[in-house]
Amino acid sequence: TSFGFQQVKEEEKSKLVGNVFTNVASSYDIMNDVMSGGLHRLWKERLVGKLSPFVGMKHLDVAGGTGDVAFRIYDAVNSVQRRALRKVDEASIEETQIYVFDINPNMLNVGKQRAAERGLRDNKSLVWVEGDAEALSFDDSSMDGYTIAFGIRNVTHIEKALAEAYRVLKRGGRFLCLELSHVDIPVFKELYDLYSFQVIPNLGELIAGDRDSYQYLVESVRRFPPQERFATMIGDAGFEKVEYENLVGGVVAIHSAIKL
Ligand code: SAM
Repeated sequence: TSFGFQQVKEEEKSKLVGNVFTNVASSYDIMNDVMSGGLHRLWKERLVGKLSPFVGMKHLDVAGGTGDVAFRIYDAVNSVQRRALRKVDEASIEETQIYVFDINPNMLNVGKQRAAERGLRDNKSLVWVEGDAEALSFDDSSMDGYTIAFGIRNVTHIEKALAEAYRVLKRGGRFLCLELSHVDIPVFKELYDLYSFQVIPNLGELIAGDRDSYQYLVESVRRFPPQERFATMIGDAGFEKVEYENLVGGVVAIHSAIKL
């Protein structure tokens, strides 16, 4: 293409993704703030708001990385707890399980450190699990919720990840996906492309010392299916009530669905 993008062979993709996140794990959180101007925090809040977390839920956050989404879910559950303190018994509070699931141990380790800094080192509700989104190590119909934020784009076979999401969710369980998506607004699209291809790789070099990983990020966003097509894929996996919401004109989209 005009951006000099080279097609990455499928079998090389997983390895490449692994390297990307090993290289950027320590600078990952600061890069998110810089690249999105802090907006990723609002987007994650929105995602967790749509999930409506509840006390005692079993939740799986796939590609959970450094725990950003999981901590928000944990906080949401605990504030619900605080409000309903008298009505909730200790046992059901302890039943709440939020699995942070990621293929990269370096990202999980940064997450565990962050948990420790929040005083949640030995907290039983947060469970850190290493593994592949395409082959989840959880039982059928075992989860009330499934989230994946800025993760599905990196998965080699998106269909497999969606089939696994469907498998592990209980009936009535909610699927939510936050992902960088496609802008379709004239002028804004041109500006966004300029930012993506000119600014982001330079920021990556400057802050993370790693231009290639952030070049990869930009290219992977372009390859990801547009909103409507991704919604169709979610439906094809068996989900119902598939919807999506664009944020910042489609810079990111939140897809949601239910297993009925
Ligand atoms: N969800 C976190 C957030 O929003 O801050 C982290 C997002 S980060 C951009 C993408 C994460 O996906 C990385 O931690 C990476 O290791 C993970 N990942 C990539 N491929 C994966 C796969 N096949 N299965 C599970 N995790 C994967």
